[in-house]
Amino acid sequence: MATHIQAVRGMNDYLPTDTSVWQQIEDTLKQVLASYGYREIRIPIVEKTSLFKRAIGEVTDVVEKEMYTFDSRKGESLTLRPEGTSGCVRAGIQHGLLYNQEQRLWYTGPMFRYERPQKGRYRQFHQIGAEVFGLKGPDVDAELIMLTARWWKALGIADFVRLELNSIGSLKARANYREALVAFLEQHKEMLDKDCKRRMYSNPMRVLDSKNPDVQVLLNYIPQLIDHLDDESREHFQGLCSLLDDAGITYTVNQRLVRGLDYYNRTVFEWVTESLGAHATVCGGGRYDGLVEQLGGCATPAVGFAVGMERLILLVQAVNPAFKAMQIIDAYVIASGQDVQSAAMQLAEKLRNEMPEIKLMTNFGGGHFKKQFIRANKWGARAVLVVGEDEVKSGHVVIKDLHSGDQQTLVQTEAVAALRTLLQ
Ligand code: ATP
Ligand code: MG
Repeated sequence: MATHIQAVRGMNDYLPTDTSVWQQIEDTLKQVLASYGYREIRIPIVEKTSLFKRAIGEVTDVVEKEMYTFDSRKGESLTLRPEGTSGCVRAGIQHGLLYNQEQRLWYTGPMFRYERPQKGRYRQFHQIGAEVFGLKGPDVDAELIMLTARWWKALGIADFVRLELNSIGSLKARANYREALVAFLEQHKEMLDKDCKRRMYSNPMRVLDSKNPDVQVLLNYIPQLIDHLDDESREHFQGLCSLLDDAGITYTVNQRLVRGLDYYNRTVFEWVTESLGAHATVCGGGRYDGLVEQLGGCATPAVGFAVGMERLILLVQAVNPAFKAMQIIDAYVIASGQDVQSAAMQLAEKLRNEMPEIKLMTNFGGGHFKKQFIRANKWGARAVLVVGEDEVKSGHVVIKDLHSGDQQTLVQTEAVAALRTLLQ
């Protein structure tokens, strides 16, 4: 026998019971986005490698070791997108969406990173994210955070996530800070690991993000970025904090929060949770005022975030184990007897015409009465409609409520009203 071909490691199948949960959660998220006036943008999964290198930064984990990069048949280097912001900005510039105007966009879809697969970390994973262009005030940053807070509330996980916030200032402020940081790191080189030593000069801010516990000890003593912030960034940050205070959103300022991608400036934030076993980030975002210009557009302020769908869904299900797949069908049409299949299918079509919202399945493959009832139960139907030889002749149908066991025989034209009442 031929061997089975398995899915690629770290890339998941989502089966119908999973997709039912995904769809319910996605619907909630999309409805909230729409309620703030955000519109969807769909961008390709594959982009030129140079886009990610330029946007995310050469000396980041993502670009250095996590990208799926390959040559096209013509020898052009292409990459499966590891995140959505780069592509959004590229599309915005390409289609003139960003020039001198505001945009409030959202996107969703698969992202690809070559990481070690584990719970909540996969090689193909999904994000939903939002990006706002053309607005520089802290009010937009605050609104994005309020939008995410509304999401958590709608999904029943508000008590299980915590907001961390920081400002990493302007490029210039970071350059000043960088000097102080490098000087400090040089003095304590022996406490750094190989990665950090390498990054000390190429991208010292990334050392702050180190997960190595030995390095983290040292990080307790590093110079503080907040002491090097430029006045405008400081004001921007204070503005954001006071808007969040007014909105009743609690946060902690985490001075070491710098995020893993190079394009951020000023505001950075993460929603973290302790409810997924290890400490995990569900949502991360921030301002990236320099990126549009860096990718060839006109200078345009921008801010956004992305949520990891898999982690979000794990969290929703951890907090609320009763969160279930949707009911598959409401009603099941049984065809019992000779030459009644066509009549059963026609009845089902009529019901769908009149009740577009109904989920209705027709029995196929025959089978005796009892067997068809077992199938109706298996698909989770509440009601069964029986079309037998007598019913076809007389234009009737039998409707049975599988919860109460009540059944009635009706002329077929009354079936819609009866079914509506039964399913209420
Ligand atoms: P982490 O620190 O967990 O690696 P990150 O900083 O690399 O996260 P971002 O690039 O900010 O993550 O992506 C935003 C969100 O996407 C994360 O907060 C997380 O929920 C999700 N995410 C990132 N990488 C993965 C992955 N490999 N598998 C599943 N979800 C992921
Ligand atoms: Mg990562």
